[in-house]
Amino acid sequence: MRVILLGPPGAGKGTQAVRIAHRASVPHVGTGDLLRAAVAHGTDLGLRARAYMERGELVPDDLVLEMLRRRLEEPDARAGFVLDGFPRNPAQAEALDAILEETGLRVDHVVALEVPDDEIVARLSSRASCPGCGRTFALPGPILGSATCDYDGTPLVQRDDDLPEVVRRRLEVFRHQTEPVIAHYQRHGLLTRVPGVGEVPDVSDRIAKELGLAS
Ligand code: AMP
Repeated sequence: MRVILLGPPGAGKGTQAVRIAHRASVPHVGTGDLLRAAVAHGTDLGLRARAYMERGELVPDDLVLEMLRRRLEEPDARAGFVLDGFPRNPAQAEALDAILEETGLRVDHVVALEVPDDEIVARLSSRASCPGCGRTFALPGPILGSATCDYDGTPLVQRDDDLPEVVRRRLEVFRHQTEPVIAHYQRHGLLTRVPGVGEVPDVSDRIAKELGLAS
């Protein structure tokens, strides 16, 4: 099963992509996670991507596409994938179609998670991330200095791009560059819109139902 999860920053794409990938027994492929890992390891890609990410801008397509192509060529992605954070603009959507067509494959489902703007800003300003495993947690601000990851014990931090002015820029980028991607998949009859509000397991159940996955 090849699934794309779309939605604004803070819609819960990463959290839901991990859960849905687990239920569908396919890997979760998050381009933001891959880029953050490249930055943390100081690779050539990471060094080139970093400044864009810090500003809340999209990393140039050629860098992201090469990285994604390599990830999708790994054996575990042959059975399918849940893509999170990609495609972010219409050119990336077309490039993904072309990458898949080379091997006779195509996207099966595209899910757009919908969350109101005021909820997004509230969520991102209280979001803490684990630099170890990349999971995110909703925390009241004052606890941030002392909280640790439930999974690996690493002290949690606020992502540089979750600062309010960068969040505003990321939302603008979403409106201008990523919303047309939603329209692209709607035209192709692949799009399902799912409300991203409420408890995490309930949102997962809604998505799973749309994908025909057993609960
Ligand atoms: P995310 O974790 O998906 O919100 O991504 C964090 C940042 O990584 C974004 O604000 C972009 O700077 C960069 N990024 C992630 N995915 C892409 C993509 N598909 N194309 C360009 N930049 C990306």
